[in-house]
Amino acid sequence: MSADLALINGNVKTMNPSRPVAEAVAVTKNKIIKVGTNKEINQLIGEKTKVISLNGKTVLPGLIDTHIHVADFGRCLLWLDLTSAGSIGKLQSLLKEKAKQTPAGKWIIGRGWNQNRFKEKRLPKLSDLNAAAPDNPVILYHESAMICAVNSKALALAGVTEQTAVPSGGTIDKNPQTGELTGILRDSATNLVWQAVPEPTADELLDATALACQKIAEAGVTSVHWLVLSENELSIIQRLHAEGKLLVRVNVIIPEALLKKTIGFQPDSLMLHVGGAVIAADGYLDSKTAALFQPYSDEPNNSGRLLCTEQALAASVAQVLAAGFQPVIHAMGDKAVDSALKVIEQTSKQAAAKPVRFRLEQAAVLNKELIKRLKTQKVVVSVQPKVIASEFSVWSATERLGVERAKWLHPLKTLLKEGVKVAGGSDCPMEPLNPLLGMQEAVTRQNFPEQRLTVEEALRMYTVDAAYSSCEENVKGSIEDGKIADLTILSNDPLAVPMDELKDVNVEMTIIDGKVVYSKH
Ligand SMILES: [Zn+2]
Repeated sequence: MSADLALINGNVKTMNPSRPVAEAVAVTKNKIIKVGTNKEINQLIGEKTKVISLNGKTVLPGLIDTHIHVADFGRCLLWLDLTSAGSIGKLQSLLKEKAKQTPAGKWIIGRGWNQNRFKEKRLPKLSDLNAAAPDNPVILYHESAMICAVNSKALALAGVTEQTAVPSGGTIDKNPQTGELTGILRDSATNLVWQAVPEPTADELLDATALACQKIAEAGVTSVHWLVLSENELSIIQRLHAEGKLLVRVNVIIPEALLKKTIGFQPDSLMLHVGGAVIAADGYLDSKTAALFQPYSDEPNNSGRLLCTEQALAASVAQVLAAGFQPVIHAMGDKAVDSALKVIEQTSKQAAAKPVRFRLEQAAVLNKELIKRLKTQKVVVSVQPKVIASEFSVWSATERLGVERAKWLHPLKTLLKEGVKVAGGSDCPMEPLNPLLGMQEAVTRQNFPEQRLTVEEALRMYTVDAAYSSCEENVKGSIEDGKIADLTILSNDPLAVPMDELKDVNVEMTIIDGKVVYSKH
């Protein structure tokens, strides 16, 4: 029998320890039927076989992003991207271009400017924005999202004038001589205008989310764990699936509150299924609401707090299991991880006959004892390496936690050494989508470099161990006979490029279910 698709002359990194490297892969329908040498695969090439000669390019198992908010990513794609603007003039020309494609009166939202990158080294002015987009209300967020620049139309629609009371925790910039508004709003004052911006329509959101799926496939990602934030997203997912626009495999992870809203999803389809439900044990480190055993180092009266008692957490876990989903417990602080582990330990005792694979989301502040318990319970830890880098740089983890605790913040290498499985994700759109950037962060980590991973280990986080995190290691995550044909083809071998250039490796082709869904050429 001949294959439907044959990839030959490749550098195939299988992530299968019994045959780590191969030259070629044969696919029939949606399954890998053989991995081997060119000679072996040539025997499976028939008249109808589509043959792709890779010229030495690298083939990886389809990459998996275990934490992404696809609908939010779509929303961001509707926005004007200003990250490349190196001058006020460039910002104006980008805005002018966007205004040309936008009906008069419709809001233009942008993000990503930074005055330090402008050659003029100044903030955008009301007059700059008015000149570029006179007929549309405009709000352009600084890359920190804490400052925005708006135009006169936006101020008028929001009813903001020189007399508007300044909200607490915010600033409305005014010209010191004339008292006129400059169009710059800071912190809580940004809401004065933001609240006047209408929600995108259902169709706009649908199109934007479809575009997000396209971008995901272009990034070489073949499966996502889509962390849903609102009920509305569930219908977007179903509509896109019905219209054939999901493109990538979706493991939907719902918030616990939506447990009863998933009726109508086909059970256990490999392209789309609801896999898990998030139960929140605590808040976040950046808002100092993650629950710690000892107070935050720079705030002696604050240790964060648990969002629920162990009893309530156990009840939530039982409910999620009864609904047939994987419990995904968000626990960032050491106290929350301890609390989650107590519930997991209890549940495992009761569920000895049918083991449950628990997953901890963003387990950040750990210690030796917690890691041992994670290993014993075979809990998967899901992390987003770019978020870790931001925690150290933007959030100054070392000052807020103290050096001793910061050493144990996301200790990825120690986790792996101790035998805990770690799965990787992006947290896009909070951080960039690019999975190779995530790998680069994990292997070039600047703080506590003893926790750096090897490229091979980083690859595991986005392939085999990501598949393990959703109990799908038997069907995907490595290139092996019988597994589904999800493949990512890269311009260069991630194990051969300099580690700080990993993020720049190009995705040449993405194959999902045996079909080419993206090709660069
Ligand atoms: Zn997230």
